[in-house]
Amino acid sequence: MPRMSCRWLPFLLIVVLIGTVFLATPGQAKVPEALDVTPEPYPFSDRYPAEVYLGSPGDLDILVELELDIETVRPADSSRPFPQYGAPFEALIAVVNVNPEEAQRLADRGLSARPIPNESLRAQRLYGPGTTGPEAWPTFDQFVTRMQGIAMAHPDIVRMVSIGKSVNNRDLWVLKISDNPDVEEDEPEFKYSANHHGDETVGIEITLRLAELLVSSYPTDTMLTELVDEMEIWLWPIYNPDGYVASSRYNAHGEDLNRNFPDRFTDPVDDPAGHEPETQAAMYWGYDHRFVMGANYHGGAAVVNYPWDAIEDPYDPEYAPDDALYYDYGVGYSSRNSRIWTGGFPQGVTRGWEWYMIYGGMQDWAYHWRGEHHVCIELGDSKKPPYTDMDTYWDENQEAMIWWMQRALRGARGLVTDALTGQPLDATVDVAEIGKIVRTDPDVGDYHRLLLPGTWTLVCHADGYLDQTWVVEVVDGTATVQDCALLPDVQFGVMVGGSEATGQPGETVTHTFTITNVGAAVDSYGVSLTPGDWPATLLDPQVGPLAPLQSGQVRVSVQIPAEPAGDGLLATDVLTVEVTSQGAPEISAQAQGTTHAVADLAVALAADQAGRSALAGQAVTYTLLVTNAGSYTDTYTLTATGNQWPTQVTPTQTSPLMPGAAAQILVRVEIPAGPPGQADTVTIRATSGLDNQVYAEQSLITLRLWGVYLPVTVKTGG
Ligand SMILES: [Zn+2]
Repeated sequence: MPRMSCRWLPFLLIVVLIGTVFLATPGQAKVPEALDVTPEPYPFSDRYPAEVYLGSPGDLDILVELELDIETVRPADSSRPFPQYGAPFEALIAVVNVNPEEAQRLADRGLSARPIPNESLRAQRLYGPGTTGPEAWPTFDQFVTRMQGIAMAHPDIVRMVSIGKSVNNRDLWVLKISDNPDVEEDEPEFKYSANHHGDETVGIEITLRLAELLVSSYPTDTMLTELVDEMEIWLWPIYNPDGYVASSRYNAHGEDLNRNFPDRFTDPVDDPAGHEPETQAAMYWGYDHRFVMGANYHGGAAVVNYPWDAIEDPYDPEYAPDDALYYDYGVGYSSRNSRIWTGGFPQGVTRGWEWYMIYGGMQDWAYHWRGEHHVCIELGDSKKPPYTDMDTYWDENQEAMIWWMQRALRGARGLVTDALTGQPLDATVDVAEIGKIVRTDPDVGDYHRLLLPGTWTLVCHADGYLDQTWVVEVVDGTATVQDCALLPDVQFGVMVGGSEATGQPGETVTHTFTITNVGAAVDSYGVSLTPGDWPATLLDPQVGPLAPLQSGQVRVSVQIPAEPAGDGLLATDVLTVEVTSQGAPEISAQAQGTTHAVADLAVALAADQAGRSALAGQAVTYTLLVTNAGSYTDTYTLTATGNQWPTQVTPTQTSPLMPGAAAQILVRVEIPAGPPGQADTVTIRATSGLDNQVYAEQSLITLRLWGVYLPVTVKTGG
């Protein structure tokens, strides 16, 4: 990309105007002596760290033009802060990672890349993972075990998830810390990641210490518990495990993972295809969630770096729509971290492009495509300090990390739903004064828009719906809640609610259907009725005119038959009404009306006596009363079961009985010869002719008596 060479033009013009030939570089910097170091390339790569002295305006642009992997840029005079945009030119020193071919291309442009010691490799040999002693860094496996320990000890609030695999098949482990960790809730999602550059290790330790602080403070510490209860906190301590194990800046393909995202200028398609596996994991993770805020931790400098990392032209400033917010929150972090506050940048912050442009960084991707408030935090000049320094780094960052996370609970938030169904929507919320959208989480419909205190205009938008605009007052210390219930974006639309009605057989009931105009225009509706089996009458064949969102009513009367129809019980009947827009006859809606008859079939059976006794050879007769206790005329079948002795039921079927009517049944039991004292039990059942599940039973017990007349002999014949 060609660069205009007028970055320092304002200063040069002033020099000309005041008529001096003085064009000095502030400070005493001059080309340092050659260090005479043999190139020390990173694992997985032929690139090695080197310094380039940038003694003229435009030299830095050459590095960007040649697409070199710039690691940091600092004033040649180490006592001076990094010059702000538009300030007089100062000599700079860039640390770049070049291979021999790139070094030659630099030389062709008049710049020399002098190899410098590879701090990471030297640190790796002294106290890298696998070495021993207090300064030694844990191995990757030890870090994984530590994460597992956090998750296993706090299963109520922690989940450990692998979101992908590195080039060398190592898991990309993340921790989720939240109350109800398996539930998508109306909570902002937040993330800290670290170790994009495998040799920048401090971020690993401080994100894990943050995890340990959060879980050990739950639920006793009010402030930290609020974070766990009110947010979904995600931590990705080791983004580049292959790089960590090898102490390489790069992944195992030799790629710089913080230059590997789609870039809005050089690769403007938000598609994971073709990117490194670690980058793809980060992108899919971003699509699966709606991160409201995030930071990725680096080392090699001390500064909070915020978007944009790349702008179209570094001589034509472009500020992120949320520049003021980025600055405010950035200074909030840096002012709580003494190393960053004094790290050589005014207030400890910089816009990425003002320092040096990079393409394909994570923060521009997250902000540009995902609407996420994302920054890059450089924790210190040493990329891999001894592990014994971690208490110091944790002390420096702890308060800032927590303060920064709390910002996710500020601004404006709410739910975006379909006004008619209440369903959550995949929607965007724009702030008119800023012009940058955030996205809802479609699982819940929640949005979280970080905002500084003030009056802001929110515009809720979802495809197929009418936009909704709200003016909200945002105050410090909390989030203003503003929900958006969006109406479908249609000129003509109608909704009909269903109806249910219940009545006695023979009764007439009335259904009431509610018709709602869900279009944007005033409309009237024609109504048609499709009855069920029962006679129905449409009482309101027209409804309207109705204003948008206004409702009207349509009534339908239904005559419940006195007798149930068909075989068995028919207690319900369904009719359909259809309403048709008169403004747009192709628009219609239907609803069903269900009528329930109170169709209780019931029968009662009572005997004059439950037991009788007599002698062998005699018969006893019981009188039973069958009563229709239901609401339909019914006929009952009578059966006798369970007995041995001859039994006769008369009649075995009643005549039709009106509700409340009764019929008399006789049951005659003959007592056969046999030992006295025996009994016989018969069960009489009266079963409804309309539904054989409806019946009543009565048991009758008959006893054979001792024959006091035993000596009597009846003689017949002659
Ligand atoms: Zn880095």
